[in-house]
Amino acid sequence: MSDKSTIEWTDATWNPVRGCTKISAGCKHCYAETFAERFRGVPEHPFEFGFDIRLVPHKLEEPLKWRTPRMVFVNSMSDLFHQAVPDEYILNVARVMRDARWHTFQVLTKRADRLHRMLGGVLAPFAKLPNIWWGVSVENRKHGVPRIALLQDAPAAVRFLSIEPLLAGLGRAFVDNGRAPRHRLGDRGRGERAGRAADGA
Ligand code: SF4
Repeated sequence: MSDKSTIEWTDATWNPVRGCTKISAGCKHCYAETFAERFRGVPEHPFEFGFDIRLVPHKLEEPLKWRTPRMVFVNSMSDLFHQAVPDEYILNVARVMRDARWHTFQVLTKRADRLHRMLGGVLAPFAKLPNIWWGVSVENRKHGVPRIALLQDAPAAVRFLSIEPLLAGLGRAFVDNGRAPRHRLGDRGRGERAGRAADGA
């Protein structure tokens, strides 16, 4: 959405998809939904249609125009792996991330099953690119642990976790207050990227 971000662990946000639907407990207080719904019905506003999911193809090439290297949070206002986003569109997003290799992209999802399936399939050529981090949100034992397992099993070069600390049910090893330094999951099962998903997936 913007080349500036107030999210502490990223420099910019990029939203080639807008809107989403809830999938698990961690969606209950979705910041993106609250923000988007504020503008429902406002003509010409990016969120004129509130939090209804839709593709925004004219945003696809935005990172290619940013010449300074940035940490880019992909779809802070959506979830790239939502079922309404076609495979081909996700591929187009991945192609831009590959071509804009001077940036680092953080792709965060709650749809870990689709992430896993696609990284092992059509997204395989992009899975090993060092400038694309693939991550899942961890909110509680029921939803978080299976997502971690799927992420660990995905053939990604860089993996990360976004921990939502206020939701109970996780062991202490995974709970973070949002002030921890970043860790990359470079090797299967080692460490975790701890942080807070202020919005988005
Ligand atoms: S953007 Fe994330 S938190 Fe919000 S509804 Fe979608 S998956 Fe849930």
